[in-house]
This record gives sequence, structure tokens and C-alpha cells, in this order.
Amino acid sequence: MAKVTLDGVVKSYGNGMTAVHGIDLAVEDREFVVLVGPSGCGKSTTLRMIAGLEDITGGTIRIGDRVVNDLPARQRDISMVFQNYALYPHLTVFDNMAFGLSLGKTPKSEIETRVRAAADTLGIGALLERKPKALSGGQRQRVAMGRAIVRHPSAFLFDEPLSNLDAELRTQMRSEIKRVHQRVDTTTIYVTHDQVEAMTLADRVVVMRGGRIEQVAPPQELYAKP
Ligand code: ADP
Ligand code: ADP
Repeated sequence: MAKVTLDGVVKSYGNGMTAVHGIDLAVEDREFVVLVGPSGCGKSTTLRMIAGLEDITGGTIRIGDRVVNDLPARQRDISMVFQNYALYPHLTVFDNMAFGLSLGKTPKSEIETRVRAAADTLGIGALLERKPKALSGGQRQRVAMGRAIVRHPSAFLFDEPLSNLDAELRTQMRSEIKRVHQRVDTTTIYVTHDQVEAMTLADRVVVMRGGRIEQVAPPQELYAKP
């Protein structure tokens, strides 16, 4: 659990295109913040800079008290869930969830405990020996979330995690994500272009447009402003 702070964060691509124009944002410890806005407004770029998947051109990003501008992704102590589940097809659910941990120093017994606990939280405890191709879309999404949870990260990042799901499943997974957030109690930054998703999930909604923050407010205040 940690605060995530962006000060004057800028991203320009090599082609001269500036995708993010000096963003200031403080996400509180355990807060659920949703970045919303039209396609191309810089949401994903912002998230990828926080994750360390994209270099930052200017400004400062802090996770907790640490400036992480130059830290590689794996040293940032955060987990990201993507829209394409990025599960390994040849590995079981258990091994998919354990993969990141098994590359590190976590003892086997601890990995087992964490994977089973995360699987229980997500209701996939009975699926641990299956391969991804034997899972439904919703189950795969749960495995992807499980893989992030087992790392016990200080923050979760979600990049349009539900956009590949049909409407019914999207609604179901939305409540699932909310429930998991409450249970795991971790700072969460969530990117979507879907306003309903933003309104249902967020403690605060950050509306982006053209690489800038246009508005920041709790959902109930967002569209009430003149
Ligand atoms: P969003 O997630 O809100 O849809 P992005 O962060 O993906 O928006 O993109 C913001 C802007 O940056 C877009 O105009 C996009 O075309 C541009 N962009 C994204 N990635 C690159 C890249 N690798 N090189 C050049 N421009 C990029
Ligand atoms: P390592 O554990 O050695 O860092 P990984 O390939 O598991 O190697 O992860 C590299 C980085 O990619 C991680 O530190 C993390 O930032 C990100 N990452 C990997 N898997 C996940 C995941 N399931 N959810 C979120 N982020 C992940």
C-alpha cells in the first residue's frame, strides 16, 4: 500500500508527439482512482509511465516516498493487469499465478499459500490445475488479477481490463474488482474509456483530455458541476 504521486509528468514520443502535458496527481494510500477519457487522451501512456513500461520525458513519479523515474518496472513494487490477459498458455492456472514470484526469492511454501489465498479471494480455487484454454473469459480475467494479487504489490494498475469481455461479464467483473479492492485494500489506478465503469468503481475520477487532466472529482460530484 502506498501513495502514488505525479508531479508535472510529461511524455513526448520520438516523433515529436507529446502525449502527456505535465500531469499533477496524488493518489492516496488505498484509494481507487479511475483515469477516464476518449481514446488517445494519454491514459494508457500515463499508466505505463507509472508502471515503468515507458520512459518519462519530464517531471517526477513517486511510489510511497521513492522517486521511481529511473527504476525498472520490476523494482517498483506494483502490479499491472492488462486487457489481453497475457497468460502463459502452456502453464496451469497455479503456475501462471505463481510465475512472477517463482522468479524471485519467495519460498515455495509461501508461494503456495499466496496463490491459494488469491484463488479463494477470486473464486477460482477449483481451477488451479487447468490450462488457460480451458477457462472462460471471466475466469481468465480472474487469473490475471490473481497473478497481480499474489505479488502483494503496494499498488495495482489496471489498463482497460474489461474491454474484451461481453456486457454481462463486464458488469460481473466490475463488482468483482470492487470487491477484491476492498478485500486486498491496495492503492489502485484504473484506466478505462467507459464512463459507467469509472462511475461505479472510483473513489475519485480523473477526466483526461488531450494529454491533460480536465477534472478530478468523486463520481457523485463529477457531472454535477456547472
Ligand atoms: P489512451 O490510452 O488515452 O487511448 P494513449 O496514452 O495510448 O491514449 O495515447 C496518447 C497519445 O500518444 C495518442 O495520440 C497516441 O497516438 C500517442 N502514442 C501512444 N504511443 C505512442 C508511440 N509509441 N509513439 C508515438 N505516439 C504514441
Ligand atoms: P520479475 O518478477 O523478475 O520482475 P516478471 O516478468 O514477472 O519478472 O515481471 C516483470 C515486471 O512486469 C514486474 O515487476 C511487473 O512490473 C510486471 N509484471 C509482471 N507480471 C505482472 C502481473 N501479473 N501483473 C502486473 N505486473 C506484472
